[in-house]
Amino acid sequence: MARDLDTVISLHRILTSLDDARQRLAGIPDWMRELHDEHAARLAEIAALEESIEQVAGERRGAEALISDAQDKLKRYQQQINSVTTQREYGALLQEIDTVKQQIAGGEESGFAALERIERLQRELAATRESFRDLDERYGRELAKWEAEKPQVAAQAAELDRSAEELRREVPRALLAHFDRIRERRGGSALAPILEIDRPGRGPREWHCGACNYRVRPQVVVEIRNRGSLVQCDSCKRILFLGDEGGTSN
Ligand SMILES: [Zn+2]
Repeated sequence: MARDLDTVISLHRILTSLDDARQRLAGIPDWMRELHDEHAARLAEIAALEESIEQVAGERRGAEALISDAQDKLKRYQQQINSVTTQREYGALLQEIDTVKQQIAGGEESGFAALERIERLQRELAATRESFRDLDERYGRELAKWEAEKPQVAAQAAELDRSAEELRREVPRALLAHFDRIRERRGGSALAPILEIDRPGRGPREWHCGACNYRVRPQVVVEIRNRGSLVQCDSCKRILFLGDEGGTSN
């Protein structure tokens, strides 16, 4: 009959693989990661260009509104010229006319500059979209490939889930509850491998918890190795297990 520790080690491994499969199903697979990031970056670039164009177009509209305003004023002032009676009023009016003419010239200048910027940005946008097309098509193909692979990963996950359920029935109820509690508290991992501290040169062998690095006493290592005892890490409370002889693997 398998020792409880061996059963929970198997359960731990299956659940880890299951979590991994579920995570893969929910996200982007590693082999697509780079392409996905590049695709997202180019999309962001296009969005930023579109936003810039929108912003400069707003500036241009502002300049045009300013010109139209100044032109109305200019028209009014020019009509008033015939009705002024004093030299002083005449001088003041000429001054106003001069000011609005400057406003019109300034508005035309910034409107023209905005137009130039818009055209430049639009050329840039068109080039970016053009070069994005290949990437976008490639991304679409890879995405379809991933969608086609998903059912296989989902089937793997279902199989792992079944195995986990079977193993859970072999674990004593109290231990299982304990196992689940630690798993919940420790982000899905109830077990931690004991690792031997690699020390060149001679000296007593030392071990630590593979999850939190806390020291593991030598007699704990012996107890687990000889009797398959269930011992928790003094610090993180995960159930400790030995990998290969000496506890150097996971
Ligand atoms: Zn620990």
